Amino acid sequence: MEKARPASPASSDTVGVTNPGGSSPFVLTCDHASNFLPAEFGTLGLAAEDLSRHIAWDPGALPVALRMAQALDATLVETRISRLIIDCNRPLDAPDLVPPVSETTAIPGNAGLSDKQRAQRVALSWQPFHDTIAGIIEDRLARGQETRLVSVHSFTPVYKGRNRPWHIGIIHDEDRRLAAPLIGALQRLAGVTVGVNEPYSPADRVYFTLERHARSRGLSCAMIEIRNDEISGETGQRKWADLLAGIFLNLEPEEAKGSRRSAVGKSVQSAS
Ligand SMILES: [Zn+2]
Repeated sequence: MEKARPASPASSDTVGVTNPGGSSPFVLTCDHASNFLPAEFGTLGLAAEDLSRHIAWDPGALPVALRMAQALDATLVETRISRLIIDCNRPLDAPDLVPPVSETTAIPGNAGLSDKQRAQRVALSWQPFHDTIAGIIEDRLARGQETRLVSVHSFTPVYKGRNRPWHIGIIHDEDRRLAAPLIGALQRLAGVTVGVNEPYSPADRVYFTLERHARSRGLSCAMIEIRNDEISGETGQRKWADLLAGIFLNLEPEEAKGSRRSAVGKSVQSAS
């Protein structure tokens, strides 16, 4: 774990790193892994049942991501604090960074926060999460290790009264290097309805972690959204993790084009 380079001594409480030395080209993130609220926040004024709903986290996403990490020998970085405290998959200027309302539920403990309170939440969870991912990627690129970033999420089957038909959605922007073969493989599966940029798209500002860490470095990336009723139990979690890991293992390796562009400057240094 020392090699994961946590951003601060306290960050291991708020960020989890599994398999920091993973040999896989894939690095996984689970941005909404936990519904944990540190004691100082109480319940944010919410009822206990609200804290187990999707508004607090992505149910089922972490067990899927952990099993994928194991199957692929991939590094996984996960949040350990609820998105209700601060949403790590949002830019710092997003109106829902600290959501005053999630879906249709008002979050009393997020109303009228001072700048200082917001900054404390950034320092508690958002900053360590992003510093940890950046440290891992920079170390890999410095070693010339191919790196492709995948975030694993889950979505609620019914949102604001509307049913969502997709079992899984793949979200991507104009760089389709990873998303296109992944979507193709999923679409060939019988009985699986695949959402392409559904139930969200980068226009909804949900692509932040991948933009910040992959797109900014020319690395390929994709966001996976699994409908959370598919992965509410161990059987479904295993099914989807094994299915996705199998697809990833069969993807063609990327040539040293975009994926290693950022490493060039550093490898010149170490070679000379
Ligand atoms: Zn999510």
